[in-house]
Amino acid sequence: MSVFSPVLNFYNNGFHPCSGSVDIPVTSPVDGRRLATLSFSTEADLEKAVASAAGAFPVWSGMSIRERAQVFYRYKNLLHEHATALAQLIHEENGKTVGEAIAEIEKSIEVTEFACSLPQMMTGELQEVSKGVECRMESVPLGVVACITPFNFPLMVPHWTIPIAITLGNCMILKPSEKVPLSAMKMAELLKQAGLPAGVFNIIHGGSDIAESICNHPRIEAVSFVGSTAVARQVYRTATHALKKCLALGGAKNHLLVLPDALPEMTSKNILASMSGCAGQRCMAASAMIAVGSVQHIIDKLCEEARKLVPGRDIGAVISREAKERIEHYISEAESEGAQVLVDGRNTVVTGSEEGYYVGPTVIDWVNPGMRIAREEVFGPVICITRTATLQEALKIENANKYGNATSVFTQDGAMAKQVIERANAGMVGVNIGVPVPREPFSFGGWNESKFGSGDITGKSSTAFWSKLKKSTVKWQAEAGINWMS
Ligand code: NAD
Repeated sequence: MSVFSPVLNFYNNGFHPCSGSVDIPVTSPVDGRRLATLSFSTEADLEKAVASAAGAFPVWSGMSIRERAQVFYRYKNLLHEHATALAQLIHEENGKTVGEAIAEIEKSIEVTEFACSLPQMMTGELQEVSKGVECRMESVPLGVVACITPFNFPLMVPHWTIPIAITLGNCMILKPSEKVPLSAMKMAELLKQAGLPAGVFNIIHGGSDIAESICNHPRIEAVSFVGSTAVARQVYRTATHALKKCLALGGAKNHLLVLPDALPEMTSKNILASMSGCAGQRCMAASAMIAVGSVQHIIDKLCEEARKLVPGRDIGAVISREAKERIEHYISEAESEGAQVLVDGRNTVVTGSEEGYYVGPTVIDWVNPGMRIAREEVFGPVICITRTATLQEALKIENANKYGNATSVFTQDGAMAKQVIERANAGMVGVNIGVPVPREPFSFGGWNESKFGSGDITGKSSTAFWSKLKKSTVKWQAEAGINWMS
């Protein structure tokens, strides 16, 4: 059992039992071991967390942004100091490799650094609009806000929002995925150690019921959500119906377009890393490859490299037995419809971790764009290849998918790359990059059914979501002439 069992809520700078009556096991995908026991939170628990956050807001929002940022300078150092323990925790509860968990911590640190830079950015605007009259515009915090996060990045996705929202002066309630509740508890410990005052950061554990209560709670001003498209849509509807700000990021089906002049070695390695990293459980993972013209040599190289990956060492576990079955079902269905499974990750068993949930890297060729595997999010280490003769056809297929998170093109031809940047129907586009995640301060966010709401979740664009604008018009000079705005 983990040191974080039983799973506890966090408010008023202390851990408190979740008062729901059902005990759910938190299981490690690595080996099926029970890590902790979790009870869902009740409405009464949520009330306590909201009261904790609301109580902290006047003092926290009244501090200068420079003072607030100081907490995150200290917190960033703590993330570095505790990286090994955190990576082990992420590995155990999520199933990704320790190396992938370290990468997740590095991205969490990057967003924290961005939050530390907010005092330099959030300077507001001031102008003398007529003689003796000044207009000033500044961002002020919203109040109590919440974020609801998925299982695939137990630390990084909460960090997309928490350091930014809190540095801007808000008090936050996090509802982590019930599948990975432990890293959040470590995060609470570190934020407290960094000197964050009681009530500024709070955690409520649970599933869909408590998430819905968060979306309906009258004291919560804004909700950010990251998860599947079906739930993102529902959360967006509920939260905006309750007159809150909401930004809800959903699922993805990311296309990689491979042109004949792509560098074979680099392209095959990038595609493999993109489709198999975090066992394919990334919203930025390559899921569909469009092979334009003669690229058989790149497909051969991709298969050769994929066969070298050792599950359990190079590729982590998927989140649950159900996820393994779902992914394997997609592969079998595509095969039965005529696609060719070139590298087969079904029925993978890792010696010494026989009870773990593993799927090996899987490459499927001759996939028809109408097949379910070509249209839906598989969320496993699987890439399906569709062949086309021209870039135009490839873009047509990419454009027709209902998601819009990421698209990448592999080519040495700048004009071809430019066409893809301009015409791809996705919020994040890459050239010769398998996972085109923008780095801070550039914003992260997709289009279409990959995101509901305006603005992006990280980077410069995120500050507008977590604040509102105060405009003041001031005249101090008694001798200033009287005009239409006096
Ligand atoms: P999920 O939608 O099942 O759950 C996400 C969160 O929503 C969890 O905290 C869960 O408890 C809660 N939830 C579940 N049902 C709910 C409901 N009916 N109402 C309110 N809340 C509810 O997602 P998941 O399986 O944890 O995560 C994987 C999904 O997340 C994939 O689709 C992936 O693409 C997506 N994702 C997207 C991004 C992005 O940036 N677009 C990033 C990471 C993950």
